Amino acid sequence: MQPMLLPCAIPPEWDNDPVGRRVQEWMRKTPLRLTIGRMAVVKVLAQAQTPVDAEAVLRGLVEQGNPTSLATVYRILKELEQHALVEREWHHNSLGTRSCYAVKLGPQHKRACCFQCDVCGRRRKVAEPALATQLAAAAEHEGYNTQQELVVVSRCAACSKN
Ligand SMILES: [Zn+2]
Repeated sequence: MQPMLLPCAIPPEWDNDPVGRRVQEWMRKTPLRLTIGRMAVVKVLAQAQTPVDAEAVLRGLVEQGNPTSLATVYRILKELEQHALVEREWHHNSLGTRSCYAVKLGPQHKRACCFQCDVCGRRRKVAEPALATQLAAAAEHEGYNTQQELVVVSRCAACSKN
């Protein structure tokens, strides 16, 4: 089966729609190219009240008139997650674990994450938001409370020399 390709032009009605406008502004702040596929996925997530899985995203895209393949949805979600635009949560049930996704529009959920030297105690904030998000997601997956500050213990450059 050939996956259907998404149209590449941003529909003009998105400029008049508050969610569509917000999604565009938000995506322009990232190095990701603004594509209809990415924006359509973000829009589905932005309109969902709770985190949703890839199948639900695909259903949302079909309802929006943007049918695509599940593989494409997964690829886009992964890109968005890598740029910390989308947050992944693991939902557990009797059938196992599935990934659910939510956008991080508006004020970002603050997740303090830092490196701490095991000798002098000097701290340095983890600068990459995508990495901090992934660390928080991994900690959450292991059952850690991510409202707490995440600390990666290592040794600073100065102490390593001694
Ligand atoms: Zn140190």
